[in-house]
Amino acid sequence: MIHVENLVGGEFVELEENFDNISPLDFSVIAKIPRTRYVGDAVISAKKALPGWSGLSLLERCDWLDKIANALEANIDEVARLESLDTGKPLDVALNVDATRSVNNFRFFANFGRNLESQEFEMDDAINYVLRKPVGVVGLISPWNLPLYLLSWKIAPALLMGNTIIAKPSELTPLTAHFLGKVCTKLGLPDGVLNIVNGYGPEVGQAIVEHPEIRAISFTGGTETGKIVAATAAPMFKKLSLELGGKNASLILSDADLDITVPGVLRASFLNSGQICLCGSRILVHSSIYDDFISRYLEELKTFKIGPVISDDHRTKVLSYIQLAIEEGGEILAGGSCPDKLGAWIEPTVIAGLSHKSRTATEEIFGPVVTIHEFDSDEQAVEMANSTQYGLAGSVWSKSKGREIAEKIDSGMVWVNTWLHRDLRVPFGGVKDSGVGREGGLWSVGFFSEAVNICIMED
Ligand code: NDP
Repeated sequence: MIHVENLVGGEFVELEENFDNISPLDFSVIAKIPRTRYVGDAVISAKKALPGWSGLSLLERCDWLDKIANALEANIDEVARLESLDTGKPLDVALNVDATRSVNNFRFFANFGRNLESQEFEMDDAINYVLRKPVGVVGLISPWNLPLYLLSWKIAPALLMGNTIIAKPSELTPLTAHFLGKVCTKLGLPDGVLNIVNGYGPEVGQAIVEHPEIRAISFTGGTETGKIVAATAAPMFKKLSLELGGKNASLILSDADLDITVPGVLRASFLNSGQICLCGSRILVHSSIYDDFISRYLEELKTFKIGPVISDDHRTKVLSYIQLAIEEGGEILAGGSCPDKLGAWIEPTVIAGLSHKSRTATEEIFGPVVTIHEFDSDEQAVEMANSTQYGLAGSVWSKSKGREIAEKIDSGMVWVNTWLHRDLRVPFGGVKDSGVGREGGLWSVGFFSEAVNICIMED
């Protein structure tokens, strides 16, 4: 049994009130989590640490990020083991996606910081330069689907730019954040630079967003929670980055190369049991290749291994959408029920025959469920792709028209003939109800700093 503790001011703190962390694999209790309601102590520690941390040079902070990356990498199997235990995902996914990308996040921002160019604007008689000051104490709130990967995506640039942190992992998946806290204290990261508080979102998450001395909130999670976060933070004029839900389309045009499209679209459908905000849960296929695509896709699906979904509650939600699909007239082509074993397992499910405007095809399910729709023209495909409230990501599969069609999709990111191919320098974020703001590379640097103009009159 693991006892998760809060990390506050460099100390691991136990609380009297704790709750169970349940494994989705078999519903056993794997950890006890402190139920935090108050973040004042963590904020005091973070404020105390701020002058020292922001007083280091950028290059010194880059060295810290490298130290953290190296220490995580030295423990990469343990990171993967904990992530797999907490989320139920297969160990190879936890290793190759979560753990590896968490290390990469720290290493990327270390190198990015070393190559960060100063910005200057010359006038005839004066010079302007841009000073990037830290925002101060920042609150970082992350979901359960890619726990350390998404939290480190925020922690690394926040540290780089000289901020001190109050981080909150999801109550469902606190283990790797706790491990990161242990790694950082062992390395001697100054006390109070990274504080980690655990508990229920509406309690401790809300307390972070409400705290007046936390000056920026970077939030990744559902659109409904994002609305609450925005409504709470906006009147305090906090900086706000919201990475929210999605209902992404995979567009398969008539000239798609099915040898790469079938495995690519399958991976986009079901990697991490469909619980990645970027997953392609709506598959739009040109009518000329519809039958061929479906038979190859269903054949390859038989060899695709997935883990359970995150919890029994989430399974109930996902199953309710499968039921809704049947009520809406959908035809279940594969899956549709739960394997007969303990844990939050659901078969990968493929549904055809629904209108692209049906609830099943427009609401975020966030599980191993996809809907397949047929189109006759590229214009129709674009109209279908853009017909939800969301605009996070998408992919286009075509030998000749990928770029042209990709530019017409109302989403923050579109891949052509690939999916989840990530360069950490590019902007990451959504349009419409998928979020506000961008993270990644310079966009993270911009979010986690205040750009101040200094104008010097020349002699
Ligand atoms: P939630 O919105 O339920 O939770 C996200 C985080 O917010 C959790 O840490 C949660 O804590 C916390 N939280 C809950 N209520 C509040 C509150 N009132 N104030 C502050 N924090 C709060 O999302 P899920 O964890 O269920 O994650 C799935 C969602 O995340 C999906 O919609 C998915 O699309 C989205 N997502 C978006 C990504 C993107 O980059 N755009 C990437 C990954 C996921 P707790 O878990 O303890 O309740």
